[in-house]
Amino acid sequence: MERLDKVISNLMCISRSDSRRLIKIGKVYVDGERVKAFDTKVSEKNEILVDGEKLNFATEVYILMNKQAGVVCDDKGNFPYAVSVLPDALKRKDLFCVGRLDKDTTGLLIITNDGEFSHKVISPKSNVEKRYRATLSEAISNEDIKQIENGLTLADGTKLLPAKVEIVTDDKKTVDFIIKEGKYHQIKRMAGAIDNKVESLHRLSIGNLNLPSNLQVGQAVEIDKETARLVFE
Ligand code: URA
Repeated sequence: MERLDKVISNLMCISRSDSRRLIKIGKVYVDGERVKAFDTKVSEKNEILVDGEKLNFATEVYILMNKQAGVVCDDKGNFPYAVSVLPDALKRKDLFCVGRLDKDTTGLLIITNDGEFSHKVISPKSNVEKRYRATLSEAISNEDIKQIENGLTLADGTKLLPAKVEIVTDDKKTVDFIIKEGKYHQIKRMAGAIDNKVESLHRLSIGNLNLPSNLQVGQAVEIDKETARLVFE
């Protein structure tokens, strides 16, 4: 059980004083009763209405975003943070990105408040495959593919695990890379190691969790825990 003012502040991404103001002016109902005490104890079993809107009290939240270019996965710099650009209905204070996509990379990003899930997705031990579609400046050769499938060594000496390559277009410049690791700028550095360059990069899937084809770039949708677990299947 948690204090009502804290729950409202967390779930609505507003300050504690704004949350108290809403309670004070009579906008908050718990299980059909108007509540005025800030410290009323509530849990996910209670129905909380704020200004007529039901709060999403789900303890664990999973959101799929089709990340647009220009948006970043941490809130440290000056660029728009993926969590901050979510539609208001999905915003909560406790959300964070599962792993990182570069600022210019688009595609599947999971946003959650479930630390254990996130840790497991990122952990190399989980062997989760991530599929990235890259547009390259040069056609990929059979020799390049062989090197990637055997495990590339990056310019700084980092040895990568074997990865898969699937050619998407006849000109061999659009290619899917399927990797199990998630090293910093990994796909771009892999391209560099075969004397190529990534011109655009888009993540299509994490495990068996695919970017829904109807989710436009910049859009986000909440999924349930069961769907999120497709990552591990
Ligand atoms: N590899 C990259 O180089 N960038 C990403 O955003 C993800 C994987």
